[in-house]
Amino acid sequence: MRRKEVIYEHTEAKSTLHRVNAWFLPFRWGINPYRGCEHDCVYCNARYTHEYLGLPTGDFAHKILVKDNAAAVLDRELSNKRWDRKWTVNMSTVTDPYQPVERELEIARDILEVFLKRRNALMVSTKSDLVLRDLDLLAEIARGGFLNVVVTIPSMDEELREKMEPRAPSIQKRIAVVRKIHDAGITVGVASVPLFPYISDSENDLERLIKTLAGSGADYVVVDVLNLRGEARSRVLPFIEGQYPELLPKYEGLYKADYCEKGHAAQVRERANRLIKEYHVDNYDRMFSYRKKTSA
Ligand code: SF4
Repeated sequence: MRRKEVIYEHTEAKSTLHRVNAWFLPFRWGINPYRGCEHDCVYCNARYTHEYLGLPTGDFAHKILVKDNAAAVLDRELSNKRWDRKWTVNMSTVTDPYQPVERELEIARDILEVFLKRRNALMVSTKSDLVLRDLDLLAEIARGGFLNVVVTIPSMDEELREKMEPRAPSIQKRIAVVRKIHDAGITVGVASVPLFPYISDSENDLERLIKTLAGSGADYVVVDVLNLRGEARSRVLPFIEGQYPELLPKYEGLYKADYCEKGHAAQVRERANRLIKEYHVDNYDRMFSYRKKTSA
């Protein structure tokens, strides 16, 4: 099927920082250089954010809003007397900051320059190897002791990746990102999220994944099982029906509500956390001591 053309709409943001109220996350603020995300992951539950812009959720992967002035606005916000530079900001929360168009526009890079200038605590979350373009800046920010990079790698299965994250960079490219960020002396974590029940959450799947991440220099790995919040349900269940029809009844059983049935989810977390310890990718203290130093 031919892919819909991607439309970029250039906008001027009035503000860039937004508060994140989730006690379990190691940051309290977020910044998004773009709205919408070309990576088009089937399980994405950020699509609802397009509704806030008066756009249909179906446009999330095809209509990308570009915040041309994000770095200038951020600089102003971080200079506010009431702002504390120890407050951690995550770039990004409802998009990937390294959209394909970032290669030309360099908005995320300009934002990094501001974090460096203001010596503000920062977390960068991405699936894209384009982040390596900015390794020079990231290494400089890390030398100030306030950077944590998180790469999302939910599975080692490239065929599955092509189906569930059709426009995101390959698994091998992301593994290379982990290695290079680690080699640059920067704390690097991996979010192995989401794990798909009966597709990518077996003992073998998890061992292959966690062993590879450990061998690639990850400091820590966090996992979570697929949830079907928001629009994810209306996309993931048809995806399962089309790609793994034999699993549909099991998924319908596991997902009577938005979250995976508790017993299955607990079993997967226990399995993953055991392997995470076994392969010594449980250096969460790097993230948590960072949080203690920097959280709001
Ligand atoms: S990279 Fe993140 S924001 Fe982008 S489509 Fe995938 S899950 Fe959604």
